[in-house]
Amino acid sequence: MAGSPFNRCVECDDIITNPLCSNCLAERMVATIRHHDVKLADAIKGFKVDGETKCILCGEGMGLCAHCFSMDIYRFLAERNTAAAEDFLSQFDFDLRKELI
Ligand SMILES: [Zn+2]
Ligand SMILES: [Zn+2]
Repeated sequence: MAGSPFNRCVECDDIITNPLCSNCLAERMVATIRHHDVKLADAIKGFKVDGETKCILCGEGMGLCAHCFSMDIYRFLAERNTAAAEDFLSQFDFDLRKELI
């Protein structure tokens, strides 16, 4: 079952194995970060990147993998609120730790 080029992430070029779009992920991330900082949570926004892969939650086409999106958000959080960033990492670790070491 080889993936077509359209099933690859636009950022890292890996085949998307966790089909969760950034909008659906952002919703969950906001819920987590709200426990730490409401303003920071409100700054988390998903963005639509179209692709052939369909999100398993909302069914929208997506082209950015969960890893790349959560890495962007992690970097954003790490600069502003370390505790929130740690909590984030424990819940949305799409292989982020591997890359951060
Ligand atoms: Zn990616
Ligand atoms: Zn979705």
